[in-house]
Order: sequence, then C-alpha cells, then structure tokens
Amino acid sequence: MRILTLLSICLFSIAAIAQKQTTNSEKSNKPKLVIGIVVDQMRWDYVNKFKPFFKSQNGFLHFINQGATCDNTMIPYVPTVTACGHASIYTGSVPALNGIAGNDWYDNILQKKVYCVDDPNVQTVGSPSVANGKMSPVNLWTTTIGDELKLATNFKSKVIGISLKDRGAIIPAGHTANAAYWYDTLSGNFITSTYYAKALPNWLSNYNNEHHVDSSYRKGWNLSLSSSIYEENCDGDENIYEGKPFGENAKHFPYNLNEFVGINYAKILTTPHGNNLVTDIAKQAIINEQLGADDITDLLALSFSSPDYIGHKFGPNSWETLDGYIKLDEVLANFFGFLDKQVGKGNYTVFLTADHAVANIPAYAKKHNLPGGRFDDKAIKVDVNACLNANNLNLKLISYVGDNNVYYNHQLMDSLNISNDYLTTIISRYLEKLPFILQVVENRKAAVAPLPQSVREKIVNGFNTQRGGDLMIVTKSGVVDGYPTGTSHGVLYNYDTHIPFLLVGNGIKHTTVNSQTYMTDIAPTITTLLGIQMPSGSIGKPVQEVLK
Ligand SMILES: [Zn+2]
Repeated sequence: MRILTLLSICLFSIAAIAQKQTTNSEKSNKPKLVIGIVVDQMRWDYVNKFKPFFKSQNGFLHFINQGATCDNTMIPYVPTVTACGHASIYTGSVPALNGIAGNDWYDNILQKKVYCVDDPNVQTVGSPSVANGKMSPVNLWTTTIGDELKLATNFKSKVIGISLKDRGAIIPAGHTANAAYWYDTLSGNFITSTYYAKALPNWLSNYNNEHHVDSSYRKGWNLSLSSSIYEENCDGDENIYEGKPFGENAKHFPYNLNEFVGINYAKILTTPHGNNLVTDIAKQAIINEQLGADDITDLLALSFSSPDYIGHKFGPNSWETLDGYIKLDEVLANFFGFLDKQVGKGNYTVFLTADHAVANIPAYAKKHNLPGGRFDDKAIKVDVNACLNANNLNLKLISYVGDNNVYYNHQLMDSLNISNDYLTTIISRYLEKLPFILQVVENRKAAVAPLPQSVREKIVNGFNTQRGGDLMIVTKSGVVDGYPTGTSHGVLYNYDTHIPFLLVGNGIKHTTVNSQTYMTDIAPTITTLLGIQMPSGSIGKPVQEVLK
C-alpha cells in the first residue's frame, strides 16, 4: 500500500512537472515581437516579377524560402486607397464598419470634408508645423490587432506605428498605441501628436537633429544594377507619360538630388531613401523602447510609403519601380539581420502585405492595346450639374461630388418633394452615357445591383452610411482618376485589389496557400497566432494553413 502511495506521488509529481514545462514552453513559444510591414502600393505580382533581381536570400526571399506566402489575397471592398487598406489590415474589417471610408471623405452629418486622421483636439509634437501633427485615430471606429494585444496583456504590450505617411503610422497603431511617428515634410523631422505624448523621446529628437534627409539627398538616386537589366525588363527610362518629381529637366537616371538639401523635405518621399528612414527609426524604437525584450508580445507596425509615391509618378513598369524594390529588398534583409541579433531568431514574427496595388499607366496600356484611360472625378460635378440643368432642377440638390461618389442634399430633396428614385434615375442615365463609366450604383441598394456577387460585395463592404455618398460611379477596367501623368489606384479591379500576404518567423509554417484569402483575414490570422481576441469589427477568417 505504501509503495503504491509512493508510486502515485511520484507519478503525480512527474505529471505536474511535465505540465509546468508545457506551460513554460507554451509561454515562451509566443513571439516576443510581431512586426507588420505594409508596402504601400505593392502589387502581388511584384514578388514573382522582381525575384530574379533580389540579391539577398534574407529580404523578400526570406518569406518565400522560410515562411508562408498567400498567393491570392484580395481586398474585399472599394475604395482601394491607403487609409482604408491600413485600417482593414489591422482591424480585419471594412469601411462599412471601421469608419475609414477613404483617405478623406465628405461627412454627411458634419457636412464637410474630413481627412482620415484629422483631429482638431490635438497638437503637433516635434515640428513648427501646426497642421501636420493634428492627427490621431479618432475617426477609426473599431479596434485593431494592437488594441486587442493591449487588452489581453493588461496594457503591458508595447505598440508603436512608424511610417512616412501620418495615416500609415496612426491607423495601424490603433487607439491604445504607445506611439505613432510619421514624417513631416515641412521640417524633415519624424513627428507625433499630443494624442500620444507631450514631447518626442530623446532618441527620436537626436535622430531628427542628425539631418538624415539631407545626407540622403547628397547620395542622389542611382541604379543598383547595370542599366541593361532595366532595359530588358522594364518600359523605357524616359516617357512623356511619367511624372517628373525632381524637376522638368530630371527626366531619367541618375537623379541628382543635391539641389533639395536644406530646402525641400518633400522630395525624399519619392525616392527609395524613404524606406531607409523608416527602418532607421524602427531600429531605434526597438532598442530604446525595448520592443521584444521580454515575454509579453509587442507590436511594431511599419509602413513603407515611398513605393506608393514612386509608383504614382513612374508606374509599375518603370525603371524607378524595379530599382525601388531592389533597394527595398536590401533594406528588408538588413532589417531582418538586425532583428535576429537584437530580438533573436525565432523570437519574432513578421507579416508583409500592401494597402492596395495599382493600375498600369493608361498611356502605357494604350501603347500595348490594353484597355484603359483617364478621367477626372472632379469633372463629374460638371456633368451632374449639366444633368440637373437639363431637367430644370436646383443645383444645390447635390451637396458633394468626389472620390467616385455623388452625395445628395436630402433636406432640400424633401422640401422640394424630389424622390430618391427620380434623382438617381436621371443622374445614372446621364452619367452612364460617358465612355469611361461602367455603371452608376446606388450605394444603399448595391446588394442588388446588376453586377457579379463579388463586385457587389466590395461596394457594400466599402459603403459607410455616415461617410459615403448616395451614388457610386463604377469606372471601366484600366480607367485612372486624375493624374495627368503617372497612375493611380482605388477601384475594384484585380490590378488594384490583388495584394501580397507573406509571413515568416515564430509560429509560421513554410507553405504556399493558393486558395483565395482576403485582406480581412490578416488580423484574425495574427490574433489566432497570439491567442488573443480578434479586433471588434473583424469579418475575416484566420488562414489556418500558415499557422503551426
Ligand atoms: Zn497611392
């Protein structure tokens, strides 16, 4: 009997030790740091197209060789623009629910135009600019990955967002972030707002005082590889349909940027140097704020904006875009090397995606007999007014036209006894005669519009009742809004909606997922990896195939 008791005590102790070990290993198995990387305007096909030119195995190829790649990740809403993309990635949600209905929008209740991260109640920190820092996530209506991480750890997790664009830093960092830092084109400083802090941390003030933008200008922009590579794989270096961000005479490589030293801090945005600035700050933040230093998971949300500025000016088939990605690959390889040393291999998880992709330059498409064209959605106002005039109607019946939306003045419609159906019918018939318009959709009835189900869903998901218009103008494939030269994005076609989704590191399998996944699946995949609640408005599903 005594032997039996002794034996059972032994067994119990072994079981208890085993359980404790499991608990310990489970605890330490969580990543100490999650790094989200958004490459602004990165098309999914760039990964494959530019693969032969990546020099390092540790940049983009690190995901392909060691991690998981989701090859059919789609954006499930329109408009496919920067603010909506960053919001969807980190909320797992869509404009209908998370409130981020565009980079800016006309607010039906406030009856004025609002910028996505505008906040009149906060002040700039780190620059003499009054306007550039009056920003916060106040317009975001749902929680983010970072917010849920904070809630799960009694706010012990640290969450920081960094980007050249204010919206690229603020929206991903969420409501409860420790900090968000963005670039101020007036001073050349990285700044924040009083939403986060009363002063910049010393390490950031010191970085700002070192004038890295000026030293980047002095380096200019030179090709990384022999020009024959670009000749063979891109459109010509000099095209009349490309923008000229560095002056009318700077038509091709190499770009001398000396003239901007100490004078113009906006030009850096449209160069690959912008990506170096963001990773410089990221490294400083990891070291000085001790991100990933203990077992409580931290989140660093990085957004590389320069690929978007470069893409808008030069297009996806340009020498500038190829060279920008070759240089971004080097930046990533260097950054991952830093993470291995600082946070430790196996202690962190990285995901990389894009906020939207981009259309070909319309003139490039035309040169190759592909469909496309340009229109100016501000000119739609002229057409809408012409329609109202032709029907002897008051021009004030329309309160705003912009971002492919027409907003009605419902108060005036009621007082003049003009019905919604009547106004919609006459405007739709008028606009649908224009050659670049596919269809005019009444936003509140988008679910029954005569369009394929997936397209209807994008319109429904993208329509926010407070911040959206009454009508949405759906353009034909390849039609680009605005931009006399260069190109843009924002619509429902696959060139704008097909984005990369790559993961590597702690908890991630080495695999390729070919089935369709969505931008809204990113947040629930990360929260599942971390074992925390998904963001409040998330409508996506975790991509189980990528998780160990
Ligand atoms: Zn853009």
